[in-house]
Amino acid sequence: MNEQSFFESVTRRFDKAAAFTNYPKGLLDQIKVCNSVYFMQFPVRLSKGIEVISAWRVQHSQHKLPAKGGIRYSEMVNQDEVMALAALMTYKCAIADVPFGGAKGGVKINPKNYSEEELEHITRRYTTELIKKNCIGPGLDVPAPDYGTGEREMAWIADTYATFALGQVDSLGCVTGKPVTQGGVRGRKEATGRGIFFGLREAFSNEADMKAIGLTTGLEGKKVVVQGLGNVGYHAAKFLLESGAIIIALCEYEGAIFNPKGLDIDAIVAHRTANKTILGFPGAQDITPSGKGLEIECDILVPAALENVITTDNAAKINAKVIAEGANGPITEEAEELLLKKNIMIIPDMYLNSGGVTVSYFEWLKNLSHVRLGRMDKRFEEGSNISILQAVEKATGYKFSEDERRKATHGADEIDLVNSGLEETMTSSYWQIHEIWKQRKGVEDLRTAAFIGAIEKVATSYLSLGIFP
Ligand code: NAD
Repeated sequence: MNEQSFFESVTRRFDKAAAFTNYPKGLLDQIKVCNSVYFMQFPVRLSKGIEVISAWRVQHSQHKLPAKGGIRYSEMVNQDEVMALAALMTYKCAIADVPFGGAKGGVKINPKNYSEEELEHITRRYTTELIKKNCIGPGLDVPAPDYGTGEREMAWIADTYATFALGQVDSLGCVTGKPVTQGGVRGRKEATGRGIFFGLREAFSNEADMKAIGLTTGLEGKKVVVQGLGNVGYHAAKFLLESGAIIIALCEYEGAIFNPKGLDIDAIVAHRTANKTILGFPGAQDITPSGKGLEIECDILVPAALENVITTDNAAKINAKVIAEGANGPITEEAEELLLKKNIMIIPDMYLNSGGVTVSYFEWLKNLSHVRLGRMDKRFEEGSNISILQAVEKATGYKFSEDERRKATHGADEIDLVNSGLEETMTSSYWQIHEIWKQRKGVEDLRTAAFIGAIEKVATSYLSLGIFP
């Protein structure tokens, strides 16, 4: 494989979409470049001695503040990757109408090689570096989880920031994806996976689009292959399973497992915890190397691990009707051309995995308002609903059952509001990019449509700032 870098690939896709717009070159250049790239190296005292850690924070766009983007812990992290992921965040926020700029962070470590205590040291030290350079803060730059990080790391970041920002009442808004007990919001952990489900549900509701790729509408009975059993892959698989889809294969780095009758996701997680591998799962066939799992014939392939997993090396062997990009950048630009020629529908990362940043936005709003979502109006809403029900009963003589009464009067809890906001965002964003795909002459795929939508929103924002009179 000799394909272009991840950032080059994002840039080229941007250029392809920008050709459908009439913005001046200078404005397009400003949208495309990374506004600031901060590379740092810092020492941490670990059990084996002092280790110098390399890390980055990239703010791709500050057209809206704060900038927003996850932090990745991986030994593969490099500057090009962090820049590409930061750029995708700008476009993702624009597509989902989340009023943030785009950013990303990366720490070049394999978290599996460190104890929990060592990871805490590294995370707190990285946060301190971000504070020193004004690269973190509720109104500046707000990180979140990504590959290799989760709620635990976000809690350490929030605590370190709060220590330095003593008395700053909004300090919890400096990072999202925190545990609920530390200012997190209910539904954030599963948000990206749930968003993928909503996106697929919308895509599979359009008869003409499904007919064009030889599928019927609806997710029920559709055969799904998922790569990556982490936060995104696990939750996407779970919600798809609940909707009646069949998970026929799961790929992890140690190999893939396949059962045409369907796999039980929670049983696989329990098996992996006990055996440290998904291989050997009862009733399933083992497939190695893991990449072979991506070639299994299916209706929906969900790559939810890392970028560049579908390249010109394996694109011809991909046997899916729809590729749902859970991960960021799983398909190289060259491979995408081959897949589109094979009439495979690709639902792009910058739309499909935007559920995470959408719910991060809700968490940030909760942190700034200092009140649990739903706390002020839940009882009031319930009281109003009860009054309406009683009036209907009085006017009609109909007596509602306990179940009907409970459903009709229930006031919204935090999780109801989060899921409702997420569903609304994923649904309306899908139809926005779908309209560009179907209505603009020459636009042949959803990714180009998504880029056009994002460029238009960011350009409008810059123009109204007055920078480009
Ligand atoms: P994670 O660390 O929770 O899980 C990733 C999983 O992929 C791990 O189980 C890992 O073992 C597996 N994996 C790694 N290499 C693999 C390979 N070659 N083959 C098969 N499996 C492999 O990470 P995550 O948060 O689920 O993120 C996954 C992807 O989704 C990344 O591209 C990330 O940028 C993107 N994403 C994450 C979020 C989020 O909210 N966490 C939001 C948007 C996008």
